[in-house]
Amino acid sequence: MKTKMKSSTPAPSSHSAPVNAWDMALEQLDTVAKHIRLDRGIHEFLRYPKTILSVSVPVRMDNGTVQVFEGHRVQHNVTRGPAKGGIRFHPDLTLDEVKALAFWMTLKCAVMGLPYGGAKGGVRVDPKKLTLGELERLTRRFASEIAIIIGPEKDIPAPDVATNPQIMAWIMDTYSMGIGYSAPGVVTGKPLEIGGSLGRNEATGRGVVVIIEEAFRRLKWPLRGATAAVQGFGNVGSVCAKLLAGMGVKVIAVSDVDGGVYSERGLDIEKMLAAKAKGAGVKDFHAPGTTRITNEELLECRCDVLIPAALENQITKDNAPRLKARMVAEAANGPTTPEADRILLKKKIPILPDILTNAGGVTVSYFEWVQDIQSFFWNEDDVNKRLKEIMMGAFNNVFQEAQTGNIDLRLAAQVVAVRRLAEALKIRGVYP
Ligand code: NAD
Repeated sequence: MKTKMKSSTPAPSSHSAPVNAWDMALEQLDTVAKHIRLDRGIHEFLRYPKTILSVSVPVRMDNGTVQVFEGHRVQHNVTRGPAKGGIRFHPDLTLDEVKALAFWMTLKCAVMGLPYGGAKGGVRVDPKKLTLGELERLTRRFASEIAIIIGPEKDIPAPDVATNPQIMAWIMDTYSMGIGYSAPGVVTGKPLEIGGSLGRNEATGRGVVVIIEEAFRRLKWPLRGATAAVQGFGNVGSVCAKLLAGMGVKVIAVSDVDGGVYSERGLDIEKMLAAKAKGAGVKDFHAPGTTRITNEELLECRCDVLIPAALENQITKDNAPRLKARMVAEAANGPTTPEADRILLKKKIPILPDILTNAGGVTVSYFEWVQDIQSFFWNEDDVNKRLKEIMMGAFNNVFQEAQTGNIDLRLAAQVVAVRRLAEALKIRGVYP
């Protein structure tokens, strides 16, 4: 992590193509394949998602008109177990983005040693523009459109950007109505009352913090008093900020889609959470010594750890040269483009890669699914203890791989994942 490392991405071309998430995922796969001399057949196998289901989602709006939205569910690979991955509601969602996110879920489950393949889904919609009733009808129609490929043994959705436990409850209910009995194991991230797990809401942020803590320990950097900047103040970013502040880290900058705030002394995260609960945006938070910043400024502020926790494509070749963070911890999926990866590597800024760093959510989703199947529920301490064990185990494997191969942590995480996938594929063989 600290010494010279080989780049995980090929040399840049003179004409950099616009960054498409699926192209970025394939570029990463090709790099790993080359590095581990992956069997050509297996490499080819992994370049294609197993199933792509695109659906139209007609919704009767409150004013009586019908609007049609575009939805997708992509299962990238199911060699190691049922497909697993979140559902995203976003106005700019594309099929290529869903394919990339599904691919990263395959790698994430493999690097964590979870018995799952990867999937992702979503609807191209701005949920902020819908009433609660419209949101419920959209969710239920989307759930019934994808019901033919999801199920506790087949494909298990979970929350992602702009989806939450209530939306998971509607999906669970819709699916259960269709099959005639209650199937809590069809989704994770559900409310506790219908088979959710304690600790699931905080799991992704908690996992990010475990990985940051361990990376700081290895680098012999003190965590107490260190500074952090968090982009995105949703499910993942707000929990990261809260837990880090509780550990004595100064969270100096936070933002959401509309902008952010900065305080050299550290922001009062508890107060910001209370304001958010009342519907306030981050940029409207006022306190002595606090100033407004843009998302661009946040990404470039001087801090010990920068935590992108919003969307893909945030750290790019354009802003990477100006980054002043000492470390990047990828709480979001795909926040750093391959070109930016190369720039940060040259600047010796370690990146804690997404498929490892934000895997706390899918890990506790796995616990939730196991609890649902057994109808036997754990206490929160058990959940958090087992989460920490799995996160630390995966970190150790990745770190070891990075040291042995003299490679960066992203390539190391992908190597661990692709090797496991390749083994499973070899054992199962290609049907027929
Ligand atoms: P969320 O919807 O709860 O929050 C997203 C946050 O990002 C919001 O504060 C939003 O305002 C902000 N945001 C959106 N667009 C932005 C932009 N252009 N610039 C700055 N901020 C912006 O979503 P989440 O569940 O916290 O997910 C965030 C990221 O973490 C995503 O990449 C997601 O795939 C990833 N992730 C989520 C989970 C999970 O369990 N929810 C698990 C693993 C990874």
